[in-house]
Amino acid sequence: MNYEQNTKKQGKVWLVGAGPSDQELLTVKGKRLLSEADVIVYDRLAGQGVLTYGAEHAEYIDVGKHSGNHRVRQSEINQILVREAMEGKKVVRLKGGDPFVFGRGAEEAEELKKAGIPFEIVPGVTSAVSVPAYQGIPVTHRDAASSLHIITAHKKEGHEPDEIPFRELAGVKGTLVFLMGVSTLPFLCANLIREGMDPQTPAAILERGTTARQRKITGTLETLETLAKEAKIQTPAIIVVGEVCACRSLEWYDKRPLAGMKIMVTRPKEQSSRLAGMLREEGAEVLEAPAIRIVPEVENERVSQVLFHIQKYQWIVFTSPTGVEVFWNALRQYRVDVRSLSHLRIAVIGSGTARALEAHGMYADLMPEIYDGEHLGAALGEVLSDEHILIPRAKIGNPELIREIQKRSEAVIEDLPIYDTHYEAYGFINYQEEFEQGKTDYVMFTSASTVRGFAQAAKGLDFSKVQALCIGKQTKAAADHYGIQTFMAEQPTLEAMVALAKERKKTW
Ligand code: SAH
Repeated sequence: MNYEQNTKKQGKVWLVGAGPSDQELLTVKGKRLLSEADVIVYDRLAGQGVLTYGAEHAEYIDVGKHSGNHRVRQSEINQILVREAMEGKKVVRLKGGDPFVFGRGAEEAEELKKAGIPFEIVPGVTSAVSVPAYQGIPVTHRDAASSLHIITAHKKEGHEPDEIPFRELAGVKGTLVFLMGVSTLPFLCANLIREGMDPQTPAAILERGTTARQRKITGTLETLETLAKEAKIQTPAIIVVGEVCACRSLEWYDKRPLAGMKIMVTRPKEQSSRLAGMLREEGAEVLEAPAIRIVPEVENERVSQVLFHIQKYQWIVFTSPTGVEVFWNALRQYRVDVRSLSHLRIAVIGSGTARALEAHGMYADLMPEIYDGEHLGAALGEVLSDEHILIPRAKIGNPELIREIQKRSEAVIEDLPIYDTHYEAYGFINYQEEFEQGKTDYVMFTSASTVRGFAQAAKGLDFSKVQALCIGKQTKAAADHYGIQTFMAEQPTLEAMVALAKERKKTW
């Protein structure tokens, strides 16, 4: 008997609702499943941000792409799901909004059942409810609407949708939400009016909901068609009909300082969440697209020798939060007790590094007023004479730090590489679309290496179309080198980066 076949793991498919686009509207369960999936099958409506929750090893299959002139057909999608699961993989089929709300989720589940593949359904936040909410439209209201009706207005092979019960809908006095209705809008409005609905009934069309580019056009059944045409509304959009559309007092999205701004954050994955969180709190849409990955390099003779002879040094210098983390992991790896550091004086380059150090219960003795290598070197040079100093840092470190110390002292410097940065990119991000077509407003760079990683990931991009917010001088110089339009934070801190984004917003 074939042993391998016999023990082959059974695969499984999870039909996961991705929510309307804002990645924070994904469910906790959906996020966990994405992080565990071997294969992620997605289409156009699944927000980019949601896709970033996939694990590093995950394979992404885009079934929303137009191959030639036609989209991947439903039958092909079904085949892909069955095939991947048969191979024993954990498959997440990611579907915009909720999988069972006009998402053909039922069809896919039926096919899986037929093929004997186990599956689970993970509901999602449907656009029908969340897109209005992000525009301050409550789909029900005690005074204005006591029922909610979600209707597909999908055109079948060029024909108008024929199964919509306009007569009943015209009389319900609830909120009507039409999905897939951009091209059939005139037909919808005309039929509702024909069946007796007041032409003055408030109506709205809501485009690209829950993203920085979300738009709301409000009118009446009579005027909405013209208004939508003037505004050149595109899919995806939903149409809402009912008194609730007239409600303006609950608008909140645009009230936040960075609303409408989409920012790409390029820090390594483990470090991007704090900055991303700060930006989201101010209302920005943030796409975390790490341009570099940190690769610790501590398993070598040189690092072990330094750690075992740490008594020899009088100073230790950290030049990034990453350096602190990698150094601490190395201590753990070599089972070096932290008490062996107690004699050391500690210098850090800036507040971020100081914070990372404090998390380990240590407080820096020296931090320059201006947070860069040059000023750190100068400050150290002033206090040093002929001590031994240890600088565990990136393989390619800023030479100015060393130069400035040497200018002013006789210190013996151990410049110890403990990590390297590798370039990184997500296949599902189309940089041309983001920057040349203006989907993203700014990219944020927090180090020169993130600039270089970005340039590598975005090869072929017209860099003059890119606007970048840079944390400091060196980072800005790296971005200028590619012809990127650059703006620099007043101080090299994440807080100052957020402040810079707000400054830029004021110029809009
Ligand atoms: N299952 C999805 C709907 C799929 S049908 C859900 O529950 O939301 C696709 C339609 O959903 C689009 O044509 C559009 O009408 C609507 N839609 C999905 N995401 C949207 C968004 N972010 N903004 C506006 N409409 C959206």
